[in-house]
Amino acid sequence: MEVLVDNQISERQYVRTITTGWRFTLPAQIRKIRGWDEGTVLRAGVAGDSLVLHEAGDQSAGMIICYLGSGGKVVIPVQIRETLQWSLGERLAIRNEPHGVVLTACCRKDRCRSCGKLRDVSEVIENLFLCSECWNRYAQTIMAKRSGG
Ligand SMILES: [Zn+2]
Repeated sequence: MEVLVDNQISERQYVRTITTGWRFTLPAQIRKIRGWDEGTVLRAGVAGDSLVLHEAGDQSAGMIICYLGSGGKVVIPVQIRETLQWSLGERLAIRNEPHGVVLTACCRKDRCRSCGKLRDVSEVIENLFLCSECWNRYAQTIMAKRSGG
């Protein structure tokens, strides 16, 4: 990779949606910068709550692999979407970073505002989504305040 590549890596972020078949489109600009084309083999890894894609290189054994399809379509490997609890319709923020292409779920309404969990989440107050655990904790805090004066 030349220095030029580093200069092109900006704070720029793209948003794409996971569609039927667990596919999303890798933005053309990112494909161009990284030199990825149809048929490129990518290695998928999880870092925190993000999916990170790299070129698979020669050592692809034992790794989670996905392929770049026509038009930049990528199918998210089942292990990854289960680990990250992603679902269809999820919006992904996509950033091109030096260590790989980083995809993070964003703009999702029914994710717990407090801890980010996806299970057991409901809209407790308008536009406020909390999981039952955080909601209970919140309710207890209010109760404690009230009884404490
Ligand atoms: Zn929560």
